Amino acid sequence: MPNALLAHVSAPTYGCELIEVDTRRRKAVFQDGRVEHYQSLVSTIPVPELVRRCTDLPAEIHEAARGLRCVSVYNVNLGIARERIDDKHWIYFPEPGYPFYRVGFPMNFSPSLGPAGCSSMYVEISHQPTEAVAPTELLRRIRAGLEQAGILQPSDEIVCTDIRDIRYAYVLFDKHRRRAIPSILSELEGRGIYSVGRYGRWEHTSMEDAIAQGKALAERLSGTGSGPLAGACPPQA
Ligand SMILES: Cc1cc2nc3c(=O)[nH]c(=O)nc-3n(C[C@H](O)[C@H](O)[C@H](O)COP(=O)(O)OP(=O)(O)OC[C@H]3O[C@@H](n4cnc5c(N)ncnc54)[C@H](O)[C@@H]3O)c2cc1C
Repeated sequence: MPNALLAHVSAPTYGCELIEVDTRRRKAVFQDGRVEHYQSLVSTIPVPELVRRCTDLPAEIHEAARGLRCVSVYNVNLGIARERIDDKHWIYFPEPGYPFYRVGFPMNFSPSLGPAGCSSMYVEISHQPTEAVAPTELLRRIRAGLEQAGILQPSDEIVCTDIRDIRYAYVLFDKHRRRAIPSILSELEGRGIYSVGRYGRWEHTSMEDAIAQGKALAERLSGTGSGPLAGACPPQA
């Protein structure tokens, strides 16, 4: 799907961080030293990160963005040396007795998502952004939880691990967000900056919502549409 969308994009650049935006001069500075002048800037960067980079925004907008709160997630991908350790797609674990809240099995979506004779799985553990757990301790807790749930057997060998810490995973819909997001997004839009996507609108939406927002915004900016940038949760929700 990304490849199909890319067919309509000319010369994309990857792996290059946006460092600073001069919103008055409409100038974006990138990590590799490139400077781009823009009429409209579309961003999917998490709101607090975008606002921090827009150094000339009013102080109250910086303060509002700093007050936005989120939950982080350790996304741990495992390869197990046993075929079909489970027949589910994914399972939720609301019980506090488990260290994870969800585990899933990519090999049950498609046999290409893991070599023959093995199982692939992901484990999601939420944590406070300020809290860090060492990888060995994380894997110890996961192993114990998976054995407790009967998904892993004590004899199972974990043949590969890949741990990712997703800082912005689930945004918190607190009272501050309700007030802050409309004013931040409208201040940015007044300066030609369109912040979209799950973390760009600071909401709880899925991949299809991000794609729909991108399409609606492209139509709006090209003058072929005026629809709202709908997500599953309106900004005021
Ligand atoms: C644990 C978890 C599980 C999920 N499971 C599902 C699921 O099963 N199904 C589903 O539909 N959705 C799921 N989602 C939600 C899905 O991941 C998001 O809805 C989707 O990725 C949002 O797309 P986006 O383009 O808005 O943001 P992202 O995919 O986060 O893209 C933002 C991009 O901005 C880049 N970026 C950030 N800062 C900078 C910078 N300073 N300079 C340049 N680039 C930068 C990032 O590298 C990234 O590529 C899940 C999310 C999480 C956290």
